[in-house]
Amino acid sequence: MTVRLRQAGFEAYLAGGCVRDVLLGRAPKDYDVATSATPDQVQALFPRTVAVGAAFGVVRVLVPGPEGDVAVEVATFRTEGPYEDGRRPSSVRFSDARSDVLRRDFTINGLLMDPETGEVLDYVGGLEDLRAGTVRAIGDPRQRFEEDRLRMLRAVRLSAELAFRIHPDTLEAIREQAPLIRSVSAERVYEELSRLLVSPGRGAGLRLLEESGLLRELLPEVAAMRGVPQPEEYHPEGDVFEHTVRVLEALRDPTVTLAWGALLHDVGKPLTYEVRERIRFPRHDEVGAQVADQVMRRLRASNEQVERVTALVRGHMRVKDFPQMREAKRRRLAGSSEFPELVELLRADSVASHGDLTVYEWIQAWLRERASEPLRPARLVTGHDLIALGLRPGPVFRDILDAVYNAQLEGQVKTRQQALALAAREVQRRAAGGEAPAGVEPHG
Ligand code: ATP
Ligand code: MG
Repeated sequence: MTVRLRQAGFEAYLAGGCVRDVLLGRAPKDYDVATSATPDQVQALFPRTVAVGAAFGVVRVLVPGPEGDVAVEVATFRTEGPYEDGRRPSSVRFSDARSDVLRRDFTINGLLMDPETGEVLDYVGGLEDLRAGTVRAIGDPRQRFEEDRLRMLRAVRLSAELAFRIHPDTLEAIREQAPLIRSVSAERVYEELSRLLVSPGRGAGLRLLEESGLLRELLPEVAAMRGVPQPEEYHPEGDVFEHTVRVLEALRDPTVTLAWGALLHDVGKPLTYEVRERIRFPRHDEVGAQVADQVMRRLRASNEQVERVTALVRGHMRVKDFPQMREAKRRRLAGSSEFPELVELLRADSVASHGDLTVYEWIQAWLRERASEPLRPARLVTGHDLIALGLRPGPVFRDILDAVYNAQLEGQVKTRQQALALAAREVQRRAAGGEAPAGVEPHG
């Protein structure tokens, strides 16, 4: 790709994040090429292109790879005009390799590489910062963050992903200008925070968000966990914020949902803190789920994502009672879509506090014993059967079906005949105005 551009007489380099990742021995997420060729010239050289941002000089070129086509963004060397809105430049001008590097955000993202020879062009000291593990703004950090406020969050996210420190001057500039982060769109904030939260450095990333002042601006509900004390005996690790950092660290390859669930699982604690004999947080799971709902909606997460995260926050205390639950209740919970993540959250929550994994291991053993059977088998009795028994559809329908299904999950009812017999007894009992028979819960 760069070869063809060069043969046609243009300069061409791999640029930005992919060079950084190749030099670090990491797999690049995507490849970018910077070239002296204009978009028209690029399109003339390659048969399959998409003009994704021709005005900015960007053309997407499809090149065959081992696993299907790979899209490479080929961008003409450019200089950016003044930033007027804190987001994007008012104009761009095609220029040379050096000015193209100077418009980029961090020195480690400012390297150019000739993929044929491995030669690296470094106009900004990026190689040294890469070796030292430093995220440092190119040029004056204050000015660069004022131009594009998202860069402040990119610095923290990058630092978490790479386990790099942020250079003191760059960090100081973020501290000074952190309030400006509020003008960045919710979608972009959510994207960066999500990437930070799933990265291996997520715990340090959360600390850095706090230290930089960005947390207070973006997630005041999470910042409020700092300084909220917890009972020593359950939480030797310290306050609610400290606990949350450690829960994040204890997660293993979390999904975005699980990572947000972990971040927000105790977000109800600052609001429910009280001291009666000892420190307590009554109903902090319920309150926390409401706060989580607000936070996730504010960040414009999808409805599905909002629901899954709030389900984790709402369920994180209940799952601790799993061994004490009735079998039917366990099976209903274990068959729910959030259960695997709820259990992983329980593990991390335990590791990050008292360290007692008894409940987690009990659940693992329980699941192993049932590995070969469906946790929620098909119902032996359905609404059709109740109609056949002469019952008219109504609110009581659901109660009877639940009662029969609970008995099925408990193993008290094993065949369709037994289930139908129980349904018939339930119908009669209700017709006579009686109570549900002892031992069968109406709801799971
Ligand atoms: P990753 O692909 O892993 O997210 P990246 O550094 O490649 O990391 P991209 O968003 O793909 O990030 O951007 C590619 C390059 O474009 C960056 O390496 C950087 O040189 C430049 N860049 C991206 N965003 C900005 C920005 N907001 N301001 C200045 N330069 C940027
Ligand atoms: Mg990239």
